[in-house]
Amino acid sequence: MHGDDVKEAAHHDLQIQLGLLRDGFAEAIPEKMAEIEAVWARVRSGGESGGGPDEAALQFLYRMAHSLVGNSGTFGFQDLSECARALEHALAEATPLNKLQEAVENLREAASRAVRISPPRPEYLDFPHIIASSHGPLVLVVDDDEFFSGDLLLQLEGYGYRVKHCRTLAEIPAVLEQEMPAALIMDIIHPEGELAGPIFLSGLLSQGKSLPPTLFISVRDDLSARLEAVRAGGLGYFTKPLEMPQLIARLEVLVGYRGPEPYRILMIEDSATESTHYAHILRRAGMHVSVVGNPLQVMEPLLTERPDLVLMDLYMPGCSGLELATVIRQQDAFMGIPIVFLSSETDTDRQMSGLSMGGDDFLEKPISPEHLVASLAARVTRARLLRANMNRDSLTGLLNHANFKYQLKLELSRAARRQGRLALAIIDIDEFKSVNDTYGHPVGDRIIRSITRHLQQQLRETDILGRLGGDEFGAILLDTDEEGARGRLDSIREAFSSHHYRRLESVSQTGPFTITFSCGLSGFPGRTNVGADPDALLELTDQALLEAKLQGRNRIVIAGA
Ligand code: GH3
Ligand code: MG
Repeated sequence: MHGDDVKEAAHHDLQIQLGLLRDGFAEAIPEKMAEIEAVWARVRSGGESGGGPDEAALQFLYRMAHSLVGNSGTFGFQDLSECARALEHALAEATPLNKLQEAVENLREAASRAVRISPPRPEYLDFPHIIASSHGPLVLVVDDDEFFSGDLLLQLEGYGYRVKHCRTLAEIPAVLEQEMPAALIMDIIHPEGELAGPIFLSGLLSQGKSLPPTLFISVRDDLSARLEAVRAGGLGYFTKPLEMPQLIARLEVLVGYRGPEPYRILMIEDSATESTHYAHILRRAGMHVSVVGNPLQVMEPLLTERPDLVLMDLYMPGCSGLELATVIRQQDAFMGIPIVFLSSETDTDRQMSGLSMGGDDFLEKPISPEHLVASLAARVTRARLLRANMNRDSLTGLLNHANFKYQLKLELSRAARRQGRLALAIIDIDEFKSVNDTYGHPVGDRIIRSITRHLQQQLRETDILGRLGGDEFGAILLDTDEEGARGRLDSIREAFSSHHYRRLESVSQTGPFTITFSCGLSGFPGRTNVGADPDALLELTDQALLEAKLQGRNRIVIAGA
């Protein structure tokens, strides 16, 4: 079979599997309803016997209603989902039994309607990376609902992710041991309790365990659930039924780091005994630690080690921690880096002045390993998220223009120092305006994400990608010359241009269509040697791109060729 046919077949297959899952859910509705009625009978008989309703049965009923809200919504049974939601609200608010009875009856009717008039199954998205899923980033889903997680797992696979699934919280640690996922998607409610998911993760964090970036999902939409999710380091919160495009967009920002890199700590500490001790604790928690003994030599490692956080003593020979923090903060590139003082200073005034000079936190020695790890991890998670939002484009998760340029500058100076080489590519989608005009902006957005994934999956892990503007992307290919870069980009160009896109809402209305891009390329050192100046190289590459457009688009032009 031709590559495209394979993709079509896989796509078709996935749609069928999703459809089967939905049919399975529809068939199980009467059974679920019977279960709910049985539990409801237990609740009621407790109430009638005068001893008050059976609390355990009430709890159980509450969870069943929850799960029905989530999965019936997922499979397009809107009416059923809303009636389950009404029952759930009634249960949460100590409603009198006769009102509860009414809610159960409404649910019963909705269930029988659902079985009679099976609503159309929701239109799933077009899955552009279905074939690549054996290489995609790993996502762990923790959810005990069989139908709901079945659907989520299939859709994630359709987006090119590898997936693992835990039905219970207890399974999580072993799975994390095996391979650290690029992201974790976790339900809030578990049999252990209404907030069991985030509480379990907070427990792991306080034991010093590292966790992947986490998104929480729940039918709960109340503040206490959201708070608990934040406390557990959650980087996103989505209510069920899930809006898949939003969830996928956030996931792509999270894994845009190219996998969960270990937290990078730069420690400035003149005492070797102390630094060895603390570095050991942090490394055991999976962090990457580099140590600088002399505070006056901190600038170079700040640049080369790219730390997430600086940990330093307040008193050091040569300069004080306060002065050093101020110096670090005065440079634009490090304005946002968290600085944490670790010192035996117990005087609160001095501690306060440390914080006012730009420190973020003050930790007192001696400190327990758990406390040290948890404090730093919380700071780094927050800093990474802020940076992700600041430096990355929200649609694709790629570096934004300013940050891409900064990376180009760093890589050029690195290559110049080591007599290395790199290639710079600027890629622009062809006739994108008319794609937006013909198929609508959401389809345009989907294509922008799709090209992002093509580039991420087919360039090297270490290559650097950015979104330079609307439909314009930048790529820095390390240790490669122009010819090598052209080879790789050309195969991406071919793969991208042969993918068939469809309009979301109706497949029949407008047939599949294809998209192409043009690319300008330059090298360092290159044919037109402009040296290690990022602006000059960008300008040169831009001209090559213009030339590619002029020559008829869907091609790559090397600057100076
Ligand atoms: P050319 O082949 O010359 O590049 O033609 P073009 O139509 O692609 O022209 P140009 O690159 O100048 O147009 C970029 C268009 O991209 C303009 C705008 O409609 C669209 N665009 C920019 N940002 C976004 C976005 O975030 N989402 C969507 N859907 N479209 C965008
Ligand atoms: Mg364009």
